[in-house]
Amino acid sequence: MLDIENYVDGKLTAPVSGHFIDNFDPSRAEVYSRIPDSDERDVALAVDAARRAFPPWSSLASEDRFEQMMRIVRLIERDLDDLALAESIDNGKPVGLAKRVDIPRAAANFRFFATAQMHLANESHDTSGRAINYTLRQPLGVVGCISPWNLPLYLFTWKIAPALAAGCTVVAKPSEVTPMTAYLLSKLCIEAELPPGVLNIVHGTGPKTGSAIVSHPDVKAISFTGGTATGEWIAREAAPKFKKLSLELGGKNPNIIFADCDYESMLETTLLSSFSNQGEICLCGSRIFVERPLYDQFRTDFVERVKALKTGDPRADGSDLGAIVSKAHFEKILSYIDLAQAEGGTVLTGGRPVNVDGLNGWFIEPTVIEGLPFDCRTNQEEIFGPVVTIQPFDSEDEVLGYANSVRYGLASTVWTENLTRAHRVAARIEAGIVWINCWLLRDLRTPFGGVKDSGMGREGGFEALRFFTEEKNVCVRVSSQ
Ligand code: NAD
Repeated sequence: MLDIENYVDGKLTAPVSGHFIDNFDPSRAEVYSRIPDSDERDVALAVDAARRAFPPWSSLASEDRFEQMMRIVRLIERDLDDLALAESIDNGKPVGLAKRVDIPRAAANFRFFATAQMHLANESHDTSGRAINYTLRQPLGVVGCISPWNLPLYLFTWKIAPALAAGCTVVAKPSEVTPMTAYLLSKLCIEAELPPGVLNIVHGTGPKTGSAIVSHPDVKAISFTGGTATGEWIAREAAPKFKKLSLELGGKNPNIIFADCDYESMLETTLLSSFSNQGEICLCGSRIFVERPLYDQFRTDFVERVKALKTGDPRADGSDLGAIVSKAHFEKILSYIDLAQAEGGTVLTGGRPVNVDGLNGWFIEPTVIEGLPFDCRTNQEEIFGPVVTIQPFDSEDEVLGYANSVRYGLASTVWTENLTRAHRVAARIEAGIVWINCWLLRDLRTPFGGVKDSGMGREGGFEALRFFTEEKNVCVRVSSQ
């Protein structure tokens, strides 16, 4: 059995305690490796290494930092197939999806921020001829990056890459549920000869390892992606220590479909926005609202297409959905399907676990539910699985009331060919991201993040680089007047 190791001070090491935790392949419901059960002693070693690595790393010329990061990009691209398979086994997602999306985007994260840091400019203000004020941005020091299980390498690198590019050194923790690609990344960093201590990866649980990163006095900022309840805990712990915080949290995203939409394009994309990665993407649209004249046609066609989706072995080509990431999450999703029925909903298709190819893994059929009011628990709480509800609406005001009724505000999708309405609705939706006639199209230069209980701070673009810096205003007097 493979024992995953921490990556501290440039070396792979076992945890100080010598204890390991089981790591499951969700499509087989089997333990296939173990991860370090790290505690505050491992985190302290990682922070020490990062502190020592900070002065040389932060003073590197930006071209040299670019070169160092690009070596990692090339190795990720070289190992794309192996990384995709590892991610599929670890997470349960179809290997084709990992090959097309997760791993290329992990490489793109490093490439984008390695390049962006060479173009970061600082503002200067001429104060009526009397002074020039300029903004100096200096890397914060040691920062903590904590990521979830749903897009393991993609979201891990989405945090690490801007931190390294900004000149910080990093102590990072992937989810204990999907540690494998972070472990493979640490091996690639060794091969790329990243200087020891610049990136440290400590594996373990949230309450033990994650909280030790958040609480460590020398960790100056926390970039966190995960659930809203965890984000609340981190905010409470970090606020009195005045750490910088970026929190990307849960969602309950609306998908609003007007009758004048481009029907075929909407239908095809709505299948993806509902069930990609088994619905385990924070940006999936789980509440589908359809304008009444289109509702019956949509209901018939959508259910027919959902029935045709193949839930299969994630390692096989041609599986549209793979396994749910863990037993606990599998049971949570099934409990929400029960709740939906108890609340009066009708399951139009799906709703049950499936035994795929005798694998005994944690699989759930893609599920469509109708007949629920917008304010019931099923329509208000994040399920984070292959479960969507559909509901008709009659007016723009009505659907915006439904869309904005939840505590979350991460992403949203609007389908209409009416240009004026598209912009009007986009401005009124309470969400950090609005996709009009598309979904999951990402430009890494744009701000990314949620409003309301979906988080605070924006990742992406120069904003992400600036997050990892301290801003200083320097005022130079240039005239005696
Ligand atoms: P989670 O909050 O349980 O865990 C996320 C990470 O935080 C893991 O690495 C975990 O070990 C760690 N953690 C847990 N408790 C901690 C603590 N007390 N201190 C420090 N770290 C701690 O979330 P999850 O179940 O892994 O991921 C699913 C959630 O992530 C969903 O709510 C989903 O919407 C959200 N998510 C949000 C985005 C976004 O960009 N907004 C993207 C992906 C996932």
